[in-house]
Amino acid sequence: TGPLTDAVLGALTHADSVRRLEVRANADTPEDAARARALGAQGIGLCRTEHMFLGERRALVEAMILARDDTAREEALAALLPLQRADFTRILAAMDGLPVTIRLLDPPLHEFLPDRTDLAVRLASTAHPDPHDRELLAAVERMDEQNPMLGLRGVRLGLAVPGLTAMQVRAVAEAVTERLRAGADPRAEIMIPLVGTVEELRLARAEAEEVLARVAAETGTSFDCPIGTMIELPRAALTAGRIAEAADFFSFGTNDLTQTTWGLSRDDAEASFFPLYLEKGVFGVSPFETIDQEGVGRLVELGVEAGRAVNPRLETGVCGEHGGDPESIHFFHGVGLDYVSCSPFRIPAARLEAGRAALTEPGLAPGAAATRSL
Ligand code: PEP
Ligand code: MG
Repeated sequence: TGPLTDAVLGALTHADSVRRLEVRANADTPEDAARARALGAQGIGLCRTEHMFLGERRALVEAMILARDDTAREEALAALLPLQRADFTRILAAMDGLPVTIRLLDPPLHEFLPDRTDLAVRLASTAHPDPHDRELLAAVERMDEQNPMLGLRGVRLGLAVPGLTAMQVRAVAEAVTERLRAGADPRAEIMIPLVGTVEELRLARAEAEEVLARVAAETGTSFDCPIGTMIELPRAALTAGRIAEAADFFSFGTNDLTQTTWGLSRDDAEASFFPLYLEKGVFGVSPFETIDQEGVGRLVELGVEAGRAVNPRLETGVCGEHGGDPESIHFFHGVGLDYVSCSPFRIPAARLEAGRAALTEPGLAPGAAATRSL
């Protein structure tokens, strides 16, 4: 190592010794998990499962969502289960001994459905159309949404497709069991996305708890698997006290929370009118990049306060892009979150920034902060 590397490592070690925020990673492959761990991640704060349903598995997902009957859906779910279990086993192996927060499926539905126009063209261009294609087109038309980001996503999809939540939770539980039998220390957590009311969380949680208990009984193992929720809708933040009654942890999804608080599309706003807004000084920086403290940040504060008042042991973190943004990290430190979670490549900078936030805390001399944490 050269002098520069030594200096950086020294700064990181110092930051780690004073910071109060834990730094976790957003990772959904074993490779990303290993990279994140090597960069100092203290767990996975967000393991998205969407990509696990694409590629070769798309046909199964289509079959699951558009199933003609219960048997067809159950077959698709049964085929997906071992694939999901293997996904989770590998990620848990990479993060052995550290928390891995696995988020249940949260796609905008249109990403999984066959293209409506393609189907219609296929049907129109043949004299003897496949009856299955006709049924498929009818199903896709029924499910077609004008605003997929406000549609059948997250917990709503889990509640709408029978067996989906159970399949994913079973895959987690079986992966945990497999790792336990191998003598490892798996620490899986289950996270429910896009919750707007405690009732949704209660329903999803009950289903998850039942599956966890069943797998534990079947395998004769006992393990702990906290169940929490994302807070990514204004209503969830405003009713956080109620939601905390059914949650072991909150993870603020500030990407969606920014989108829904501002009424700005995550996918379109940057390109369409942000340049104009930046030029006119409506905001100095994109609220998707740095937390908007007066609006979205206020909802985070309210959520943490109300959640902890009901459940003092509630763990709180952030897993939106803001979790890796330096200015936002200072804000999250001030709010008292337990952790930030960000892309693996942002981990070192996040560790440094979390350390700086602790050292520059108002009312604390840097020396005092360091002494207090050591
Ligand atoms: C979020 O909304 O902030 C979040 C982390 O989830 P996703 O980006 O997957 O919607
Ligand atoms: Mg989200």
